[in-house]
Amino acid sequence: MNLMNGFLSLFYPSECLCCKRYIKDFKYFFVCPDCFNHVKEIDKHSSCKICLKPLSSEFVDVCVECRERVKTYFECIEAAGFYESPLKELIYQLKFYQKKKAGKILADYVLSKVQDDFFKNIDIITYVPISKRTKEQRNFNHTEILALYIGSKKRIKVMETMKKIKETEDQSSLKREARLKNLKDAFEIKNDIKEKIFKKKILVIDDIYTTGSTMNEVSKVLKENGTKEIFGLVIARSL
Ligand SMILES: [Zn+2]
Ligand SMILES: [Zn+2]
Repeated sequence: MNLMNGFLSLFYPSECLCCKRYIKDFKYFFVCPDCFNHVKEIDKHSSCKICLKPLSSEFVDVCVECRERVKTYFECIEAAGFYESPLKELIYQLKFYQKKKAGKILADYVLSKVQDDFFKNIDIITYVPISKRTKEQRNFNHTEILALYIGSKKRIKVMETMKKIKETEDQSSLKREARLKNLKDAFEIKNDIKEKIFKKKILVIDDIYTTGSTMNEVSKVLKENGTKEIFGLVIARSL
């Protein structure tokens, strides 16, 4: 800690959201360097090649959920780590407290973990939309914030391609079957977007991947409207 950091911390002490200790290094926000360096990473060699779920057998490369899904409309996803501390706290700050700074930290982090090759042939970046009512409550869509940071870093065009036309229940409170039902017909392609996404490779940004219902439903809408291939990029893979 340099002198300036020490001086500032006298006036702006901030507590780490994970371990509750004071953050003494002013390069760090919300989470202390110790906690930030303990993101639970995903071992790709022992995970599903579509959704990154850890596999229980070394003789398969796709998980049961991906095998049993009637149709998977996206190719695969990438993620920065598991949905645990500190990613969990940072996502919460972005989503429910509108802390754009947390979005920037998460976007930088996910980009540091995902290989450049993943972005190579992507034409357009888009994001999972939220309903009008949720947007009114929260003032912004957190996945749009993530998409804008990622798009500007990777120099890929970010486009709002869909709208959420159905008020849905919070997915995290539902079981798999109910999640699918909850999201059915929830998304719709925006007007005048069809030509722009025709035969394009699109990257869909979301915060958390759990069962894949959201990613698949959004991808279905894009695919049915002419998109060539869809990839997913999420901050955290939930277990
Ligand atoms: Zn900490
Ligand atoms: Zn899978």
